[in-house]
Amino acid sequence: MTSLSRIRNNVRSVLDELPGHVQLVAAGKTRTPEELLEAVEAGVGIIGENYVQEAETAKKVIGSRVKWHFIGHLQKNKVNKAVDLFDMIETVDSVSLAERIDRRCEKSGKVMPVLVEVNSGEEPSKSGVMPEDTVRFIEELVRLSNIEVRGLMTMGPFTEDPEDARPCFARTRSIFTRIRDLGIAGTGFRHLSMGMTGSYRVAIEEGADMVRIGTLIFGEREYRKKG
Ligand SMILES: *Cc1c(COP(=O)(O)O)cnc(C)c1O
Repeated sequence: MTSLSRIRNNVRSVLDELPGHVQLVAAGKTRTPEELLEAVEAGVGIIGENYVQEAETAKKVIGSRVKWHFIGHLQKNKVNKAVDLFDMIETVDSVSLAERIDRRCEKSGKVMPVLVEVNSGEEPSKSGVMPEDTVRFIEELVRLSNIEVRGLMTMGPFTEDPEDARPCFARTRSIFTRIRDLGIAGTGFRHLSMGMTGSYRVAIEEGADMVRIGTLIFGEREYRKKG
């Protein structure tokens, strides 16, 4: 089997497996536009990109027939490009970043759907808002009229055993439910983006409605870039 037809088969089996309410975000970092295109033709509707530059290159080939989600760490000097390229930014974790996105959107006449990234494992090396700060953080964000807070995103720990991530996913879900029930972000607050290749099944059990999957679709990454 060629690597492209393997991608096609992988996408189909992931899509077959996911419950109907769960959206697949194909994590595209380090993949070529041709590989991404193959995934799109097999049914992927959302591509998640960690790097603005890679997204720009891939979007030239694939265009707007899919949604583009930013899932990396967004540097402030990349905000303008990111606002132009992406349909959702999943990783908002500071008020100053949110304010920059808001200002750029105002200029472009756009409203950006965003997720708030939660550092659910409270790991110093990871980005994201601390769990206990999330409600207050979202109360600040909802004042900005050119972004819409649509939910939460979390990474969780990188370990072999996906059960290690379960407490972090459960914790994020419980914050999500609290914010939704408080109504502070309105009725558009309904997404929970959690789970990767090793952990998506556990994430879905814990309430994820978006899973971000790279390796299971495209194979092992051959190199890693710093984010
Ligand atoms: C790379 C990446 C993924 C997907 O990881 P895999 O283990 O390859 O499925 C998901 N989310 C984010 C934020 C990523 O950077």
